[in-house]
Amino acid sequence: MVCPCGCGRRLEVMLLKGVKPRWDLSVDKTGFPSLHPSVWVADGCRSHFWLRNGKIHWC
Ligand SMILES: [Zn+2]
Repeated sequence: MVCPCGCGRRLEVMLLKGVKPRWDLSVDKTGFPSLHPSVWVADGCRSHFWLRNGKIHWC
């Protein structure tokens, strides 16, 4: 996914089992994705956000 802050950075979100760090991706009935836990960009723009039901929630 591309960082939602607009910096254009590509974020690697690991969804494979057994890989750390990793995130749980769930998709609701209407097809919107949610990620758990929140995504934190430790370097660069330092974005910290939740993806819930296809929408970005900034921390
Ligand atoms: Zn960013």
